[in-house]
Amino acid sequence: MAMAAGLGEQSRMGLLVTKKFGPRIRLCKVLTDMPVKTDKYQPFGVSEFCRTCEVCAEKCPSQSIPYGPPTESGKNISNQSGPLKWYNDHERCFNYWASIRTDCSQCIRVCPFNKPLSKIHDLSRFMIRFKWPLVNKVLVQLDSILGYHSTYPASVFWNELNRYRKN
Ligand code: SF4
Ligand code: SF4
Repeated sequence: MAMAAGLGEQSRMGLLVTKKFGPRIRLCKVLTDMPVKTDKYQPFGVSEFCRTCEVCAEKCPSQSIPYGPPTESGKNISNQSGPLKWYNDHERCFNYWASIRTDCSQCIRVCPFNKPLSKIHDLSRFMIRFKWPLVNKVLVQLDSILGYHSTYPASVFWNELNRYRKN
């Protein structure tokens, strides 16, 4: 529904990726028979980029995110097989959440679309629209070199936040 409404595009990790906020959104639906002007699907290169980038699959601690091209069959009853897409193993993901007694979201953290708005990041997003595999490959490598794929303990986040609050 979100894709049909022009809000974003499907990704390897299974979440909607939006132009402005990447995967950092919460979707909400309103069902109505009110006559409204409709939007249409507006892809901007996410699917093609995900074919090159497998960072979320590599960094997923439970290995719930698939590698390789999209398929038409899900992993288990929690997927709705049929459409061509990447099927996240939600049962495996949720079992992992249960084992660590909190949620994870590592996939969102490492996703290259999870970047603040800035001129350099806007330029990358602009280039992704052309769907050039070689450019996508270079962007993924740059992302890694710049340290965006690395993880750090939660204490780093809280220390940063406390520093921000004190200033
Ligand atoms: S939330 Fe964590 S465990 Fe679940 S798919 Fe994302 S990275 Fe994997
Ligand atoms: S981390 Fe890479 S492969 Fe995974 S959803 Fe984001 S862009 Fe796609």
